[in-house]
Amino acid sequence: MTERMLQFTHLPQKTPDKRPVVERRADFDEIYARFNVQAAKAQASRCSQCGIPFCSIHCPLSNNIPDWLKLTAEGRLEEAYEISSATNTFPEICGRICPQDRLCEGNCVIEKGFESVTIGAVERYITDTAFEQGWVKPIAPMTELPYSVGIIGAGPAGLAAAEALRQLGYQVTVYDRHDRVGGLLIYGIPGFKLEKDIVLRRWKWLEDGGIKFVLNADIGGALPFETLRAQHDAVLIATGVYKPREIAGPGSGLPGIVPALDYLITSNRKGLGDAVPDFDSGLLNAKGKRVVVIGGGDTAMDCVRTAVRQEAQSVTCLYRRDRQNMPGSLREVSNAEDEGVVFQWLAAPEAFLGDDKVTAVRAVRMHLGLPDQSGRQSVDPIAGSSFTVEADLVIKALGFDPEDMPTAFNEPNLALTGWGTLKVNPQTFLTSLPGVFAAGDIVRGASLVVWAIRDGRDAAVQIGDYLQLQTLAAAAE
Ligand SMILES: Cc1cc2nc3c(=O)[nH]c(=O)nc-3n(C[C@H](O)[C@H](O)[C@H](O)COP(=O)(O)OP(=O)(O)OC[C@H]3O[C@@H](n4cnc5c(N)ncnc54)[C@H](O)[C@@H]3O)c2cc1C
Ligand code: SF4
Repeated sequence: MTERMLQFTHLPQKTPDKRPVVERRADFDEIYARFNVQAAKAQASRCSQCGIPFCSIHCPLSNNIPDWLKLTAEGRLEEAYEISSATNTFPEICGRICPQDRLCEGNCVIEKGFESVTIGAVERYITDTAFEQGWVKPIAPMTELPYSVGIIGAGPAGLAAAEALRQLGYQVTVYDRHDRVGGLLIYGIPGFKLEKDIVLRRWKWLEDGGIKFVLNADIGGALPFETLRAQHDAVLIATGVYKPREIAGPGSGLPGIVPALDYLITSNRKGLGDAVPDFDSGLLNAKGKRVVVIGGGDTAMDCVRTAVRQEAQSVTCLYRRDRQNMPGSLREVSNAEDEGVVFQWLAAPEAFLGDDKVTAVRAVRMHLGLPDQSGRQSVDPIAGSSFTVEADLVIKALGFDPEDMPTAFNEPNLALTGWGTLKVNPQTFLTSLPGVFAAGDIVRGASLVVWAIRDGRDAAVQIGDYLQLQTLAAAAE
């Protein structure tokens, strides 16, 4: 069957069709269409089956990519699904939102001269098809174990751990302060990258597998962390990072300057049909406004593209470095440009102008200097280069830091790293507290969904080992 493969020499790369810009600017639906069966087979057959799969090595989940590409090319989709889902809890989500250009596809060995295999799009196609065909079965543990694990946070790290622990037979309860499951998948990432039905479908699948969810449960607030520890044999903290990095400078406190996540959560809630007064009042709605977004990561890209869809009058992104040094996915930058966003590279805000609300941002041009110890170039303002961008809404998207977890959980013995993330043993995921583990962004700092899934799965194995050891120790007493 290898004759079906290695087609990259004559078959060009083809990503799934993108909806026309005018159409996609008008709604929050995903912008990429799905492969049809012929396109999925053809694109999968471009894989060279190279023998040293750098794509797998550079996938945080070490997905067996060449195997499922070959099975897809051969039309053996159910087997492709089995292999793909063996290493990834949410392949259809990663297929949509991983920055493949920096991970699997960016390391495809046919990349040079021929363009990589469209790995993400095939991965998404396999699992979407599996759902439609009824191949995705509820989690069915071989045995039920009398131990319970409490997971704080229903984001990708918590959910991946919940699934893996349930598979082993543990009784799993996931707590979240939000009213829906998914963490940033549901309330951070907009529908044009990841439609909400995809997340809701996984919520149902996890519930069907026997995982319990306790929502609107703010641990450390209404529900003390201590109570949770007493209720469960082990606890996993997977709370993500939510403290927005602040912006300084004159006028930075003016009304009309808002944090990115408030803006995105509002928009996502509106899309889910919730009543959102801050949207209806116009406070967190870009309609008819001149919008300036400050930052260059995924969050900034999601804000600019949300503002376009809310019919902003104009959308400008200010980023202090240049395009090559943007932390966000370059694919998303180019999608934003197509949708009409204006990028001011090498520009940083100096001051925010206005009396009772913001009316403009005064920015200064920057230049890149010599690399520092980390290898990243310094950025310095160019004297006398100030310019003004008019603005009715300024969105701050400068990244996130961890909340103060020992204070939030009223647990002074919860050890932190120098960055304020939770300190864990990198092998066991154990925090400084017995029986308390941590995974995802709260350990790693703001990262990627695929890394959160990886950490959640690995932490689950360690929690399983820990509970078995506890049982053996109790039996020996
Ligand atoms: C706007 C935005 C866009 C992004 N786009 C991408 C992308 O395109 N691709 C990509 O790979 N990554 C992207 N990321 C990063 C990605 O979303 C995160 O790395 C990932 O979600 C981290 O997973 P997590 O489970 O650790 O945390 P989260 O997804 O943040 O989930 C943590 C959960 O814990 C809950 N929680 C927190 N504190 C408490 C508490 N005290 N009590 C109860 N519950 C609590 C929260 O409500 C939340 O549901 C994006 C991030 C943002 C902000
Ligand atoms: S999980 Fe992400 S990095 Fe891994 S194969 Fe899928 S798209 Fe690529």
